[in-house]
Amino acid sequence: MNPAAIEALRTYYGYDRFRPGQEKLIEAILNAQDVLGIMPTGAGKSICYQIPALLLDGVTLVVSPLISLMKDQVDALNSAGIEATYINSSLSLKETNERMRDVAAGHYKLLYIAPERLESEQFRAMIRRLEVPLIAVDEAHCVSQWGHDFRPSYMTIVRLLQDIEPRPVMAAFTATATDVVKDDIVERLRLREPERVTTGYARSNLALIVVRNADKRDFVARFIKEHADQAGIIYASTRREVENVYTFVRGLGVSVGKYHAGLSEEERAHTQEAFQKDDLQLIVATNAFGMGIDKSNVRFVIHNNMPKNLEAYYQEAGRAGRDGDPGECVLLFSPQDVVTQKFFIEQSEATEDRKRNDYRLLNDMVQYAHTGECLQLTIVRYFGEENGEPCGACFNCTDTRETIDVTVDAKMIFACISEMKQRFGVTMTAKVLRGANDAKIKQFDFDRLRSYGRLKHMAEKPLVQLIHALVADGYLRMSDTAYPVVQLMEPVLEVMRGEARVYRKVEPEAPPVSRSGS
Ligand code: ADP
Ligand code: ZN
Repeated sequence: MNPAAIEALRTYYGYDRFRPGQEKLIEAILNAQDVLGIMPTGAGKSICYQIPALLLDGVTLVVSPLISLMKDQVDALNSAGIEATYINSSLSLKETNERMRDVAAGHYKLLYIAPERLESEQFRAMIRRLEVPLIAVDEAHCVSQWGHDFRPSYMTIVRLLQDIEPRPVMAAFTATATDVVKDDIVERLRLREPERVTTGYARSNLALIVVRNADKRDFVARFIKEHADQAGIIYASTRREVENVYTFVRGLGVSVGKYHAGLSEEERAHTQEAFQKDDLQLIVATNAFGMGIDKSNVRFVIHNNMPKNLEAYYQEAGRAGRDGDPGECVLLFSPQDVVTQKFFIEQSEATEDRKRNDYRLLNDMVQYAHTGECLQLTIVRYFGEENGEPCGACFNCTDTRETIDVTVDAKMIFACISEMKQRFGVTMTAKVLRGANDAKIKQFDFDRLRSYGRLKHMAEKPLVQLIHALVADGYLRMSDTAYPVVQLMEPVLEVMRGEARVYRKVEPEAPPVSRSGS
């Protein structure tokens, strides 16, 4: 590692060592390579461009959409002895001109700007006269229409890039995970063979838990009882479900508030504040809750319903344990939640492409709910981090249930899917295998298939769960369509040839309430 970079880390920030991803990103930038840093909030993005800015000649431009945070960041830099300033709509024309003059005179190492600034030809002309070694783009997903926060002004960053000679190094940062958005960022910001670094997603103090067969109300009641006096959030997918869960929890005699878009702004603000001040122990909420919340001692987050994708899930679940003390994140899965999410997608006014994308992300979410692998590792990999070890704390890592050999049943499922030409979904597959007497089955002559009725001994729910588990473990995949069909993947061949066997944990009768509990 560049000794000057470590020196800067010590003198300006007072830290002894870089976090793993920071080192790689800084090194790449200093070697004049573009970078795409994928890091969640709090992982330490700023240092990745601030330290190169200190070491490179000229002034680094930082494009950030968060005007309200700009001043704080610049103040913090200044008090650390780093010369930085910002230009945004909060300044008068006179102030802007003065600052630009100082920037041009070389008084600053960092200049923060809002993307809207770049729409001004005059402003870009001023920038053109500066020596700019590096442009850092914060919240880079804003450049993508596939992201959740598209901002047209981000498109002008490229124009700026083309204006400046020699071309500055581009460093883009985002917390977003999906490959489509990442590729879009690379393309739209014209990153040149960027070093992609994903880091900081693992949260070692969180215990991730998935519960499939539970009576949800019963589970929630038992969980709350075991976590008396601990702050928690319960997420539900619709306003009505929030109301139902809220009424139920209040009936348990717990201090609880509710939060969804159907309530007045005052009510919501009041609830949020009460929760923040520990006047309320629990909040039952839709995903509308949490955006602006900064409460560090949330001990658990229960998802009463599965959200639309893993990104949303992890963001919401990640509100537990912000203080670094242990937190528990429970996902209560039921097949009905998949139906609800599909309904949301179908109902939306998104383009067909977009819907396909949403279905794919939903499938990933369903797989998370069925995987037998470390849940933390599953998430970290989903975000693109390659390294990592099982967390040792999640439901799957601490699962002591018996492992059983399900090869015979799995082979029957594979055979059935193959006989149906990989053109049907989980429900139909389960029906055929269970020998259901169904009009559609008759219509397709599926009652004549060899696999028809061959898993008659299994109840529908465990069979459907087994199929989902086979998806999660990579034997099968689901298509990205409104009615996903199950398809066979390569590992099936080995199993069919008798070269590999399929194992699974026994599904619990009544799932445990807490990993640490009695
Ligand atoms: P982000 O921009 O990714 O949300 P920040 O850059 O604001 O995150 O950093 C989050 C926190 O982590 C800050 O308090 C920062 O000082 C701290 N931090 C960053 N890098 C390091 C490091 N190498 N060692 C210790 N703390 C760090
Ligand atoms: Zn684990």
